[in-house]
Amino acid sequence: MTEQSPVLPSAEDLLAAYAGVNLIGNARLSAAATLTVENPATGKALAEAAASRAPEVDAAVTAARAAGPGWAALPARQRGRKLADAARALAPLAEPIARLLAMETGKAIRTECRGEVATATDILDFHAGLGSELKGETVPYHPRMMTLTTREPLGVVAAILPWNVPLVLMMLKIAPALVAGNTVVVKAAEEAPFATFAMAEVLMRHLPDGVLNVVCGDGPDCGAVLTAHPDVAKITFTGSEEVGGIVYRAGAEKIIPVSLELGGKSPMIVCADADLEKAVAGAISGMRFTRQGQSCTASSRIYVHDSLFDAFLAKLTAALDALKIGDPLDEATDIGTIVSPRQAAIVRDYVAKAEATPGARVLRCGALPDDTALAADLFERPTLLLDLPEDHPCLREEIFGPVAAIQRWDDYDDVIARANDSDYGLAATVWTASLSTALDATARLDAGYVQVNQNLTIQPNVSYGGFGRSGLGKEASLEAMLEHFTRKKTIVLNFD
Ligand code: NAD
Repeated sequence: MTEQSPVLPSAEDLLAAYAGVNLIGNARLSAAATLTVENPATGKALAEAAASRAPEVDAAVTAARAAGPGWAALPARQRGRKLADAARALAPLAEPIARLLAMETGKAIRTECRGEVATATDILDFHAGLGSELKGETVPYHPRMMTLTTREPLGVVAAILPWNVPLVLMMLKIAPALVAGNTVVVKAAEEAPFATFAMAEVLMRHLPDGVLNVVCGDGPDCGAVLTAHPDVAKITFTGSEEVGGIVYRAGAEKIIPVSLELGGKSPMIVCADADLEKAVAGAISGMRFTRQGQSCTASSRIYVHDSLFDAFLAKLTAALDALKIGDPLDEATDIGTIVSPRQAAIVRDYVAKAEATPGARVLRCGALPDDTALAADLFERPTLLLDLPEDHPCLREEIFGPVAAIQRWDDYDDVIARANDSDYGLAATVWTASLSTALDATARLDAGYVQVNQNLTIQPNVSYGGFGRSGLGKEASLEAMLEHFTRKKTIVLNFD
């Protein structure tokens, strides 16, 4: 007799399962109020999500606090094994979760959402193996004493997420926090909470009750209540610079550690000896055009050497013209929508400022979809801004849309100075055939993540985090887990 494979839930089933609920203490609990999540591609309501306030937040923190001692007392590798089991259990649900993510964020399923689910699962799998790395040191303090350090969990971690890559960003927080022995309350992004719930619940089924909890709600009534909760011992936040400041102040009130992953305005420097094809492909992937540019790491300031400028622009516009903008769930679609009318208005306002600038040019690439079943408002074409003055808001402020400024350069020292002339310092890329230029530029660029001749997204074993107003602390990597999700205790044993 052949074994029957279990019937897997569809994206619609998952949507119905998480409508109006939070995940607290391994149960789906209805919230007292709800908020409407829209499908940005159709403009229609997708489902009601929990609009949690103080009572729900308190229940989640209380569950996490109660689960803390038992979870911390488990051998670290056993905790890791549970995460590894959860990573395996995610595989069959990858497709409905990716579909759900496309429906709530407007991101294209083929180019964005499947990859996001796979990367989030990989991040979980990577951290699952780090349990035995929670090591301390022995310290040569005195020959007749034993002095050592140990790593302890912090307690209840509040993990606050944005909407743009919610699954990857959730996993970068909860996987290291959990393996290090903390318990967690996630605050899902109110624009796109459902895939977050679906992925988290798979993990939860492998964990003791209350170790992982997820609430959804808006910033002031839910996020701020969570950060101010007296039993939260650590805040890890990804989002805007403005809210990052509020969250940092909330942590300061209680004197608890806070990690912040905030905005960016990342430069890409294309040198005269760069491989043009690679650089053009790198500009498209680096600007995250297939994600409507909604990325903190987006290479939104592209500095191209004079000698390559015209060829670079011609190839870039041709490649962007070939990308299909359309229904996020259509396999043929490369680029879906912007997440919300609010975000689209911000993006269009910046483009209008560029259009109003004397001497500046605005190039729009690709074609908008003509499918009448789609709401046209949130589709935006890849947009290139040319010949802007270096102090223009479009070169200084994060746009978080499919808008890149392309600038010329002919003096190497000057372009390094222009690249560094930013309040942000999240990422940078350099494109050159010269090792000495690469070494010099990587040393001089003021950014937390600098790549040469490539523009890859976050890797689980490579520290990621910004300088300046891009944030505080690192995510991904063993180092980030140790520094941001444990505290170090010094112990001196004296039997002299
Ligand atoms: P946002 O700051 O508006 O919201 C982020 C989260 O904070 C949401 O869950 C929101 O509900 C919550 N929040 C809002 N007010 C709060 C408050 N007073 N207290 C506590 N929580 C509160 O950001 P967004 O629009 O969701 O995301 C876009 C931003 O995220 C961009 O600026 C982008 O650069 C940044 N981002 C950074 C990284 C990174 O790794 N550096 C990655 C992705 C996104």
